[in-house]
Amino acid sequence: MKNERINVTKTFLPKQIEYQKILSRSWDKSWITNRGELVLELENKIKRQYNISNILATTNGTLPLQIAIKGLGLKGEIITTPFSYVATTSSIIWEGCKPIFVDIDEDSFNIDYLKIEAAITSKTSAILATHVFGNPCDIEAIDKIAKKHNLKVIYDAAHCFGVTYNKQSVFEYGDVSTCSFHATKIFHTGEGGALFTKDSALYDKLYSHHNFGHKGTSEFHGLGINAKISELQAAMGLAVFPYLDSIFERRETLYKLYQKELFGKVKFQKIASNCDYNYAYMPVVFKSETHLLEVIEELNNNNVFPRRYFNPSLNTIAYVNGDAMPISESISSRILCLPLYFDLGEENVIRISRLISNTISNE
Ligand SMILES: *Cc1c(COP(=O)(O)O)cnc(C)c1O
Repeated sequence: MKNERINVTKTFLPKQIEYQKILSRSWDKSWITNRGELVLELENKIKRQYNISNILATTNGTLPLQIAIKGLGLKGEIITTPFSYVATTSSIIWEGCKPIFVDIDEDSFNIDYLKIEAAITSKTSAILATHVFGNPCDIEAIDKIAKKHNLKVIYDAAHCFGVTYNKQSVFEYGDVSTCSFHATKIFHTGEGGALFTKDSALYDKLYSHHNFGHKGTSEFHGLGINAKISELQAAMGLAVFPYLDSIFERRETLYKLYQKELFGKVKFQKIASNCDYNYAYMPVVFKSETHLLEVIEELNNNNVFPRRYFNPSLNTIAYVNGDAMPISESISSRILCLPLYFDLGEENVIRISRLISNTISNE
């Protein structure tokens, strides 16, 4: 029998009837957007579960980055990581600022805080760092640098649902943190996201930005955009929410099985010790891009489709044209995210690991 296709991820879907049951509440009220009861319930559930000060759910995980840049009044240069999804960099440029890249740490894959100060100029207004694959940055070190130079800090925490740092939700750090609830992420609403800030005055401002700047129906606080999440999206989130514990647990099991099977053959991400991790991705780094390409070919031939997250290194994108970032470019060329999702079987993790081991030991 031919093996079924295995992708890097598979969206977790609750039972359709469970989704419909929640949706029927918006049908009953004929209320499908503009912060109805389902959105408020989802926000409250997340807030309570993770002890969060302020959350604003949004229609995706990119607009909150743009709204944070706008709401914090950032201008000029923003120090950021070249190793992230394109939205981290594109949001900076979309908001009329210039991304200044700082290379990454080769073990954590996060921005190397030791190199940040050298990149600060009189034009620097902020640091926008990604907790790559859910692995928290060295938040204390980054905050210290930011305070010293009077910079704002935004964390792209798109991968971080469920992650804690020093026993607090990782979303509680920075001036603003953002998350994505896209269907490929660990917790999802189909499309969706959120922003978080402990500063309630800033929260009010960001809230206004996400709803056209409205102050009531016929007045405006100022400029805004539409980043509202709908009831239909929130219903999906509410239907997925009860499964979160089993999702985290299952992913941890599979992640550790990959680590056991591939021990000594590939390099794994070094996860911060002061965090509870969510096992959002299964990144492995090969010795060379040649190894990586051979592995991809072999896996594809066996109907397995991993993804090259993140490739290319963002400083090399044509419209960005940033300085060379040797470590990020090197990791980008050699890193592969292996399939990892709730109903992936152990036998497939073992099979995929053996295909990889056999390919790279044939050299
Ligand atoms: C997914 C992702 C985003 C964008 O989120 P969307 O919900 O797809 O808009 C931003 N940053 C990172 C690091 C991501 O992985």
